Amino acid sequence: MDVLKKYSIAHKGLGMGAHRFEFEVDDRFFEAFEGSEIRKGSAKATVEMDKQSDRLSLRIGIRGEATVECDRCLDELTLPVEYDGTLCVRYGQTENESDGEVMWIGPGETEIPLAQYIYESICLSLPCQRVHPDDEHGRSTCDPDMLGRFRIVSEEEFDGMAASAERGASPWDKLKEIKTGE
Ligand SMILES: [Zn+2]
Repeated sequence: MDVLKKYSIAHKGLGMGAHRFEFEVDDRFFEAFEGSEIRKGSAKATVEMDKQSDRLSLRIGIRGEATVECDRCLDELTLPVEYDGTLCVRYGQTENESDGEVMWIGPGETEIPLAQYIYESICLSLPCQRVHPDDEHGRSTCDPDMLGRFRIVSEEEFDGMAASAERGASPWDKLKEIKTGE
């Protein structure tokens, strides 16, 4: 069964007025999105829906955490997820379509698919800069082993690498020098 199928609301048989739904997001949810920058996570999405004759108004709140790759040391970094948004679902003439705020669903569609919306909302709620925070002494809490392995090459070292590359030497030899010279 499609893992994402359960993140849908069967709206057809529902009466007018308020309805509430909850969805649990877990590691398998993120695995279902190919190339996801979120490796794993755990969150709860709460949907408050108001059904009207011509549309469905959804208020969606997501709380939990998501694990991404730290931009600096590439080790795992777990960030809080906090998102609140609204989505208006309208009945369209053609296929399902969404611009993030309004979703059109076809007249024959019995379910509102929310997996993509939830996924994108979680991604949006994460900060642009994803690095381990400094501790109370101002020291980075990044994994020191990982940092050593993926040390950022300074501008000077980079120039040196470029120069030796021009002379025909492999920049990787220079990198090795830098590494062993520590
Ligand atoms: Zn880090």
